[in-house]
Amino acid sequence: MTGIVQGVGFRPHVYSLAVRLGLAGFVANDSGGVTIEVEGERLDEFEGELRAHPPPQALIDGWWSTVLPACDALGFAIHESEPPAEESTPVSPDLATCGECLADLFDPANRRYRYPFLNCTNCGPRFTITRSTPYDRPLTTMGSFRMCQACEREYHDPADRRFHAQPNACPQCGPRLRFEPGGVEGEAALARALAMLAEGGIVAVKGIGGFHLACLANDERAVAELRRRKGRAEKPFALMMRDVDVARRYAHVDAVRWPREQPIVLYPRVHLDLPRLVAPGQANLGIFFPYSPLHRLLIGDEPLVMTSGNRSDEPIARTNGEAQQRLRDLADGFLLHDREIHVVCDDSVLRGGIPVRRSRGFAPMPIRLRGDGPSVLAVGGELKATFCLTRGERAYMSQHIGDMENLETLEAFERCCQQMKALFRVTPDVVACDLHPGYLSTRWAQQCGLPVVRVQHHHAHVAALLTEAEVEGPVIGVAFDGAGYGTDGAIWGGEILLADCAHFERLTHLKYVPLPGGDAGVRRPYRMALAHLRSEGIAWDEDLPCVRSAAVNERRIVERELKAVNTSSVGRLFDAVASLIGLRHVVSYEGQAAMELEAAADAGCEQSYEFTLEDPAPLWRALIADGRRDETAGTMAARFHNGLARATVAACQGRGVRTVALTGGVFQNALLLNRTRQALEAEGFHVLTHHRVPPNDGGIALGQAAAARLANFVRQ
Ligand code: ZN
Ligand code: ZN
Ligand code: FE
Repeated sequence: MTGIVQGVGFRPHVYSLAVRLGLAGFVANDSGGVTIEVEGERLDEFEGELRAHPPPQALIDGWWSTVLPACDALGFAIHESEPPAEESTPVSPDLATCGECLADLFDPANRRYRYPFLNCTNCGPRFTITRSTPYDRPLTTMGSFRMCQACEREYHDPADRRFHAQPNACPQCGPRLRFEPGGVEGEAALARALAMLAEGGIVAVKGIGGFHLACLANDERAVAELRRRKGRAEKPFALMMRDVDVARRYAHVDAVRWPREQPIVLYPRVHLDLPRLVAPGQANLGIFFPYSPLHRLLIGDEPLVMTSGNRSDEPIARTNGEAQQRLRDLADGFLLHDREIHVVCDDSVLRGGIPVRRSRGFAPMPIRLRGDGPSVLAVGGELKATFCLTRGERAYMSQHIGDMENLETLEAFERCCQQMKALFRVTPDVVACDLHPGYLSTRWAQQCGLPVVRVQHHHAHVAALLTEAEVEGPVIGVAFDGAGYGTDGAIWGGEILLADCAHFERLTHLKYVPLPGGDAGVRRPYRMALAHLRSEGIAWDEDLPCVRSAAVNERRIVERELKAVNTSSVGRLFDAVASLIGLRHVVSYEGQAAMELEAAADAGCEQSYEFTLEDPAPLWRALIADGRRDETAGTMAARFHNGLARATVAACQGRGVRTVALTGGVFQNALLLNRTRQALEAEGFHVLTHHRVPPNDGGIALGQAAAARLANFVRQ
């Protein structure tokens, strides 16, 4: 059997099934998956039962069986792991604490009562502690801890939940907590951390895939201090809450099925009784639950802000030393432990079932590719970078690396890349990268010594969606995002493509407007609004909010700059609209104006502005007229969303293709996504949306890889 079959309690599961059916033989991990040999009467029953009820965390993607001569085996055994062979086995993602372990954690009679590192075959760290495969204790960062007799007994007892649980540990033999400053250990360390939080302090907490910075969410001063120290003005913080009951006080939480991976999930907020600074201007709150026993011990009735342990723009801290060095000025105290994190893995983020960041709990779960092909290393883009390694029919998408704009993040990328190549034994034949000559990832790809395939940004977005949806195409790819380098040197971002994984043709796009100079054009949406108005020959009248936001001499600068480079970006269109209606003129993080425009939109409003992608002028005239009529921002924002959905449908019509793929970071906007999907389906289109990789640039590595597998290149 191949797939996610190691580290998920597979062998114990097979063992008990075989014993129950009176079969002899063995089960063994190898680096290709799991091998089972069974001998006896009830073989069909065995196979049927295993297929119907595999272990809950397992994902079997291959199953081969053959008949062997009987060898009169006695009893059933679990064999020790074989040395690694040629094939590679997926490593399980990290698993959130299971219910039985939680019960142990709070049972005073249990020997693991309040032990922050307990786990079993159904839960615990996996990917982040694995140095090499097969997944076996000596090859994990638990290799340095020697099991005590009691743990050893569980580990070897096929009837025990901890049978062959590689990270098995207890207070006698396993990892320990330590608090700095002071160096106190165990329960005392935890008490120090809790006291510091209660006093409004900021604590760096070592978790599963890296460090968090934590403070009480209801302590306004602590939250403000965390923002100041981290250099993060307004980008929303995630909140860890004890359970669904606590979460319900703050958001419309749908408790029916919380993803078992325990990502951060964005939910519409209900009460506004949290300090404004937790998530300014947001209609949603990012909520997650304690996914490790340590988190569970740390959290009480009140939510904690838990944000990645880094300064903005830097990668998340991994080792104790690194954290104490780099987070020195950010944290008042450090809750550390001595289980080493080998692989860094940030928290994942989900919104309405759509991945916004695919990382802990999901990576490195493979995504199936069509047919065999060369091994590709796809290096992704720049913002929200991830990379992708392919081998045979599997694509391994990396965890979230960060915005690849500085050396530290490039180093983190190189480290993760080495780790994944080693873990899955991939030797890439070819490297795929973006067309943008200025991306660090592109430059890295060009000097890495492999043949290079450059994939256009929006083609990569569409190819990523086709790959995860297992659709061959061609489809109409609607790729709306902030920025991507076009084949004509312009900045694309409002693209209607006819595409399959190998090729694309640009059918149409949002009308080009000049992009106001450099970064300032992105950080100051009012400049974008001015550009749109000028491009349509609409006067910069003093009464328009976007005009008022620009000082007279700045208007002259914008004017002068409006010649350089064209853009068809829909992300920038959102910026311009947000400014024109007076909602947001300056942003402190990518996508802020668009998120606030979505949050402002009156969801009950069905009216729309009539315009097309090729001719957006009527949009501007209608917005200005509505503004002068003192129409509410909520109505204008809704009419814009609805109008853009209709313009998108119009752009897809008459192309002779009935499947539409909606991708690009703009489609994290649930209102736009839903309106566009409904409008397309009403016209009889089949609509594809993202479910496994993010629609934003965190997903493009998959598309780059899919395109490069089909490209012509010279093998070295
Ligand atoms: Zn467990
Ligand atoms: Zn022990
Ligand atoms: Fe993009």
